[in-house]
Amino acid sequence: MDKLAKERRSWNMSRIQGKNTGPEIAMRSMLHKGGFRFRLQGKNLPGKPDIVLPKFKTAIFVHGCFWHRHENCKYCYTPKSRHEFWDNKFRRTVQRDAEQIRSLAGSGWLPLVVWECEIKNNPAKTFTKVQSLLQQRLLKMNGDT
Ligand SMILES: [Zn+2]
Repeated sequence: MDKLAKERRSWNMSRIQGKNTGPEIAMRSMLHKGGFRFRLQGKNLPGKPDIVLPKFKTAIFVHGCFWHRHENCKYCYTPKSRHEFWDNKFRRTVQRDAEQIRSLAGSGWLPLVVWECEIKNNPAKTFTKVQSLLQQRLLKMNGDT
């Protein structure tokens, strides 16, 4: 196994636990420091978003690049064995993600997807992006009332 393959594998293994991954915790802690109030895992919302900001009516998904198929990302590869199995699995995940996002948007929520590699590679930049989307969101919401 080459170095990149090893790196990918340990990265993906860390994702199998699902919730409370490093990048997700990093995102939460940056939001917290930024003074944003949020809830974890919106159980009553489509897709159970990882971070919910009621004031902004915004739901954030911290997506793993491998499972959720981050396009053109080095972590988004297809295992060589059982190719068909993975293909089907990934297709279903991507389809379900799209449905959940449509459903959230349809009920007036702003769905935001943050990729784990973005947080991993440049947490500050990712937070700045999310922060500015939230500010725009608030302006828009206030403008609507
Ligand atoms: Zn990625």
